[in-house]
Amino acid sequence: RRWIADEWNETTAALTGEQAAHLIRVLRAEPGMEFDMVAGGRLFRAVLTECANDIARFELLQEMEADGALPITLLLSVFKFDRMEWAIEKATELGVERIVPVVASRTEKHLALASAKRVERWRRIAREAAQQSRRSDVPAIEDAQPLKTALKREQAGAKLLLSESEESVMLSAALREESTREGRALQMAFGPEGGWTQQEASLFEAESWKSVSLGPRILRAETAAIAATAIAGAFYNE
Ligand code: SAM
Repeated sequence: RRWIADEWNETTAALTGEQAAHLIRVLRAEPGMEFDMVAGGRLFRAVLTECANDIARFELLQEMEADGALPITLLLSVFKFDRMEWAIEKATELGVERIVPVVASRTEKHLALASAKRVERWRRIAREAAQQSRRSDVPAIEDAQPLKTALKREQAGAKLLLSESEESVMLSAALREESTREGRALQMAFGPEGGWTQQEASLFEAESWKSVSLGPRILRAETAAIAATAIAGAFYNE
Protein backbone atom coordinates (compact mmCIF):
# COMPACT_ATOMS: atom_id res chain seq x y z
CA ARG A 1 0.00 0.00 0.00
CA ARG A 2 1.10 3.54 -0.75
CA TRP A 3 0.21 6.25 1.71
CA ILE A 4 -0.70 9.68 0.40
CA ALA A 5 0.64 12.43 2.66
CA ASP A 6 -1.78 14.99 4.09
CA GLU A 7 1.08 17.42 4.80
CA TRP A 8 4.63 17.55 3.50
CA ASN A 9 7.69 19.67 2.80
CA GLU A 10 11.01 18.85 1.11
CA THR A 11 12.21 16.43 3.82
CA THR A 12 9.23 15.37 5.94
CA ALA A 13 5.62 14.29 5.54
CA ALA A 14 2.65 13.60 7.82
CA LEU A 15 -0.59 11.63 7.83
CA THR A 16 -3.44 13.11 9.84
CA GLY A 17 -7.02 12.19 10.83
CA GLU A 18 -8.38 8.84 9.64
CA GLN A 19 -5.17 7.85 7.86
CA ALA A 20 -3.04 8.42 10.98
CA ALA A 21 -5.55 6.57 13.16
CA HIS A 22 -5.56 3.61 10.78
CA LEU A 23 -1.78 3.43 10.63
CA ILE A 24 -1.25 3.73 14.37
CA ARG A 25 -4.24 1.92 15.90
CA VAL A 26 -5.18 -0.67 13.31
CA LEU A 27 -1.81 -1.45 11.74
CA ARG A 28 0.08 -0.69 14.97
CA ALA A 29 2.92 1.02 13.16
CA GLU A 30 5.88 2.14 15.26
CA PRO A 31 8.71 4.63 14.75
CA GLY A 32 11.49 3.14 12.63
CA MET A 33 9.12 1.30 10.25
CA GLU A 34 9.39 2.21 6.56
CA PHE A 35 6.55 2.91 4.10
CA ASP A 36 5.96 4.06 0.52
CA MET A 37 4.69 7.62 0.71
CA VAL A 38 3.31 9.88 -2.00
CA ALA A 39 3.99 13.54 -1.21
CA GLY A 40 2.96 16.24 -3.69
CA GLY A 41 2.60 13.69 -6.49
CA ARG A 42 6.13 12.33 -5.91
CA LEU A 43 6.83 8.87 -4.53
CA PHE A 44 9.25 8.35 -1.61
CA ARG A 45 10.46 5.66 0.75
CA ALA A 46 9.75 7.17 4.17
CA VAL A 47 10.48 6.24 7.76
CA LEU A 48 7.97 6.81 10.55
CA THR A 49 9.54 9.10 13.14
CA GLU A 50 6.70 10.00 15.50
CA CYS A 51 3.19 8.76 16.33
CA ALA A 52 0.68 10.86 18.20
CA ASN A 53 -3.07 10.28 18.43
CA ASP A 54 -4.05 12.09 15.31
CA ILE A 55 -0.78 12.56 13.45
CA ALA A 56 2.00 10.31 12.14
CA ARG A 57 5.22 12.05 11.07
CA PHE A 58 7.75 10.71 8.59
CA GLU A 59 11.16 11.56 7.28
CA LEU A 60 11.42 11.22 3.49
CA LEU A 61 14.38 8.94 2.75
CA GLN A 62 14.66 8.40 -0.96
CA GLU A 63 12.65 9.40 -4.01
CA MET A 64 11.47 6.50 -6.20
CA GLU A 65 10.30 6.45 -9.80
CA ALA A 66 6.58 7.25 -9.95
CA ASP A 67 4.16 5.62 -12.42
CA GLY A 68 2.10 8.48 -13.85
CA ALA A 69 -1.61 8.50 -14.58
CA LEU A 70 -2.93 8.05 -18.11
CA PRO A 71 -3.80 11.46 -19.61
CA ILE A 72 -7.51 10.58 -19.68
CA THR A 73 -10.39 12.77 -18.48
CA LEU A 74 -13.88 11.28 -18.13
CA LEU A 75 -16.97 13.48 -18.29
CA LEU A 76 -19.59 11.36 -16.54
CA SER A 77 -23.16 12.57 -16.57
CA VAL A 78 -24.27 11.89 -13.00
CA PHE A 79 -26.06 8.55 -12.70
CA LYS A 80 -27.30 6.48 -9.74
CA PHE A 81 -24.85 6.98 -6.88
CA ASP A 82 -23.96 3.33 -6.23
CA ARG A 83 -23.05 2.93 -9.92
CA MET A 84 -21.29 6.29 -9.96
CA GLU A 85 -19.12 5.16 -7.03
CA TRP A 86 -18.30 1.91 -8.81
CA ALA A 87 -17.32 3.81 -11.97
CA ILE A 88 -15.07 6.22 -10.03
CA GLU A 89 -13.36 3.35 -8.22
CA LYS A 90 -12.74 1.34 -11.40
CA ALA A 91 -11.67 4.33 -13.50
CA THR A 92 -9.14 5.18 -10.77
CA GLU A 93 -7.78 1.63 -10.81
CA LEU A 94 -7.43 1.86 -14.59
CA GLY A 95 -5.39 5.04 -14.26
CA VAL A 96 -7.54 8.03 -15.34
CA GLU A 97 -6.26 11.46 -14.43
CA ARG A 98 -9.50 13.43 -13.97
CA ILE A 99 -13.24 12.86 -13.64
CA VAL A 100 -15.81 15.60 -14.23
CA PRO A 101 -19.33 14.79 -12.93
CA VAL A 102 -21.76 16.48 -15.29
CA VAL A 103 -25.30 17.42 -14.31
CA ALA A 104 -27.07 16.93 -17.64
CA SER A 105 -30.55 18.20 -18.55
CA ARG A 106 -31.89 14.64 -18.26
CA THR A 107 -30.02 13.71 -15.07
CA GLU A 108 -32.70 12.57 -12.62
CA LYS A 109 -33.77 15.53 -10.47
CA HIS A 110 -32.98 13.99 -7.07
CA LEU A 111 -29.49 13.00 -8.26
CA ALA A 112 -28.87 16.47 -9.69
CA LEU A 113 -29.87 18.08 -6.38
CA ALA A 114 -27.74 15.74 -4.25
CA SER A 115 -24.66 15.60 -6.46
CA ALA A 116 -22.86 18.68 -5.06
CA LYS A 117 -22.81 17.08 -1.61
CA ARG A 118 -21.58 13.74 -2.98
CA VAL A 119 -18.34 15.07 -4.41
CA GLU A 120 -16.39 14.74 -1.15
CA ARG A 121 -17.39 11.08 -0.92
CA TRP A 122 -16.36 10.53 -4.57
CA ARG A 123 -12.97 12.10 -3.78
CA ARG A 124 -12.55 9.76 -0.82
CA ILE A 125 -13.39 6.74 -3.01
CA ALA A 126 -10.84 7.85 -5.63
CA ARG A 127 -8.20 8.31 -2.96
CA GLU A 128 -8.79 4.86 -1.47
CA ALA A 129 -8.82 3.21 -4.90
CA ALA A 130 -5.59 5.02 -5.82
CA GLN A 131 -3.90 3.70 -2.69
CA GLN A 132 -5.24 0.21 -3.23
CA SER A 133 -4.01 0.06 -6.81
CA ARG A 134 -0.63 1.55 -5.81
CA ARG A 135 -0.96 4.69 -7.83
CA SER A 136 1.41 7.50 -7.04
CA ASP A 137 -1.31 10.12 -7.51
CA VAL A 138 -5.04 10.53 -6.96
CA PRO A 139 -7.30 11.48 -9.88
CA ALA A 140 -8.89 14.90 -9.60
CA ILE A 141 -12.65 14.69 -9.07
CA GLU A 142 -14.09 18.02 -10.11
CA ASP A 143 -17.18 19.62 -8.60
CA ALA A 144 -20.44 18.48 -10.23
CA GLN A 145 -21.20 21.00 -12.99
CA PRO A 146 -23.48 21.68 -15.95
CA LEU A 147 -22.28 20.50 -19.37
CA LYS A 148 -21.74 24.05 -20.60
CA THR A 149 -19.24 24.73 -17.79
CA ALA A 150 -17.46 21.40 -18.32
CA LEU A 151 -17.03 22.04 -22.04
CA LYS A 152 -15.90 25.64 -21.60
CA ARG A 153 -12.70 24.59 -19.89
CA GLU A 154 -9.98 24.51 -22.52
CA GLN A 155 -8.35 21.08 -22.65
CA ALA A 156 -5.79 19.91 -25.14
CA GLY A 157 -6.07 16.59 -26.99
CA ALA A 158 -8.75 14.36 -28.47
CA LYS A 159 -12.43 14.85 -27.51
CA LEU A 160 -14.60 11.76 -27.92
CA LEU A 161 -18.34 11.61 -27.28
CA LEU A 162 -19.36 8.01 -26.57
CA SER A 163 -22.56 7.24 -28.37
CA GLU A 164 -24.42 4.11 -29.42
CA SER A 165 -25.44 5.79 -32.67
CA GLU A 166 -24.88 3.59 -35.72
CA GLU A 167 -23.17 6.41 -37.57
CA SER A 168 -20.36 6.71 -35.01
CA VAL A 169 -16.92 5.32 -35.80
CA MET A 170 -15.58 2.66 -33.46
CA LEU A 171 -13.60 3.96 -30.47
CA SER A 172 -10.51 1.90 -31.35
CA ALA A 173 -10.42 3.38 -34.87
CA ALA A 174 -10.75 6.91 -33.49
CA LEU A 175 -7.96 6.30 -30.97
CA ARG A 176 -5.67 5.13 -33.73
CA GLU A 177 -6.47 8.26 -35.71
CA GLU A 178 -6.06 10.57 -32.72
CA SER A 179 -2.53 9.33 -32.00
CA THR A 180 -3.16 8.45 -28.37
CA ARG A 181 -0.25 6.03 -28.67
CA GLU A 182 2.04 9.04 -28.70
CA GLY A 183 0.71 10.06 -25.30
CA ARG A 184 -1.80 12.64 -26.56
CA ALA A 185 -4.40 13.65 -23.94
CA LEU A 186 -7.94 12.33 -24.27
CA GLN A 187 -11.35 13.40 -22.98
CA MET A 188 -14.31 11.03 -23.19
CA ALA A 189 -17.93 11.95 -22.37
CA PHE A 190 -20.74 9.59 -21.32
CA GLY A 191 -24.40 10.57 -21.39
CA PRO A 192 -27.36 10.10 -19.01
CA GLU A 193 -29.85 7.25 -19.27
CA GLY A 194 -32.28 9.41 -21.20
CA GLY A 195 -29.55 10.62 -23.58
CA TRP A 196 -28.33 14.19 -24.18
CA THR A 197 -30.87 16.81 -25.28
CA GLN A 198 -30.61 18.38 -28.72
CA GLN A 199 -29.21 21.52 -27.12
CA GLU A 200 -26.47 19.53 -25.34
CA ALA A 201 -25.65 17.66 -28.55
CA SER A 202 -25.15 21.05 -30.24
CA LEU A 203 -22.75 22.12 -27.47
CA PHE A 204 -20.58 19.06 -28.16
CA GLU A 205 -20.75 19.76 -31.87
CA ALA A 206 -19.72 23.39 -31.42
CA GLU A 207 -16.64 22.24 -29.46
CA SER A 208 -15.72 19.68 -32.19
CA TRP A 209 -16.31 16.53 -30.16
CA LYS A 210 -16.23 13.40 -32.29
CA SER A 211 -18.91 10.75 -31.84
CA VAL A 212 -17.53 7.24 -31.25
CA SER A 213 -19.09 3.86 -30.52
CA LEU A 214 -18.35 0.71 -28.55
CA GLY A 215 -20.55 -1.43 -30.78
CA PRO A 216 -24.25 -2.09 -31.42
CA ARG A 217 -25.30 -2.96 -27.86
CA ILE A 218 -26.66 -0.26 -25.55
CA LEU A 219 -24.53 -0.27 -22.43
CA ARG A 220 -25.15 1.38 -19.10
CA ALA A 221 -23.10 4.54 -18.80
CA GLU A 222 -20.76 3.02 -16.18
CA THR A 223 -20.14 -0.06 -18.34
CA ALA A 224 -19.40 2.18 -21.33
CA ALA A 225 -17.06 4.37 -19.22
CA ILE A 226 -15.01 1.46 -17.91
CA ALA A 227 -14.91 -0.42 -21.23
CA ALA A 228 -13.80 2.74 -23.07
CA THR A 229 -11.16 3.53 -20.43
CA ALA A 230 -9.76 -0.01 -20.65
CA ILE A 231 -9.59 0.21 -24.46
CA ALA A 232 -7.91 3.63 -24.36
CA GLY A 233 -5.58 2.42 -21.60
CA ALA A 234 -4.41 -0.41 -23.83
CA PHE A 235 -3.40 2.18 -26.44
CA TYR A 236 -1.37 4.21 -23.96
CA ASN A 237 0.21 1.16 -22.34
CA GLU A 238 1.22 -0.42 -25.64
N1 SAM B 1 -31.16 6.05 -24.74
C1 SAM B 1 -29.97 6.66 -24.30
C2 SAM B 1 -29.45 7.56 -25.41
O1 SAM B 1 -30.18 7.81 -26.34
O2 SAM B 1 -28.34 8.09 -25.35
C3 SAM B 1 -29.02 5.59 -23.86
C4 SAM B 1 -27.98 6.09 -22.93
S1 SAM B 1 -26.83 4.87 -22.39
C5 SAM B 1 -27.75 3.97 -21.23
C6 SAM B 1 -25.77 5.86 -21.42
C7 SAM B 1 -24.49 6.30 -22.08
O3 SAM B 1 -23.62 5.18 -22.23
C8 SAM B 1 -24.60 6.87 -23.48
O4 SAM B 1 -24.91 8.23 -23.47
C9 SAM B 1 -23.21 6.65 -24.04
O5 SAM B 1 -22.32 7.66 -23.62
C10 SAM B 1 -22.83 5.34 -23.38
N2 SAM B 1 -23.05 4.16 -24.26
C11 SAM B 1 -23.95 3.18 -24.10
N3 SAM B 1 -23.83 2.24 -25.06
C12 SAM B 1 -22.83 2.64 -25.86
C13 SAM B 1 -22.23 2.10 -27.03
N4 SAM B 1 -22.63 0.97 -27.58
N5 SAM B 1 -21.21 2.80 -27.59
C14 SAM B 1 -20.77 3.95 -27.05
N6 SAM B 1 -21.32 4.52 -25.94
C15 SAM B 1 -22.32 3.87 -25.35
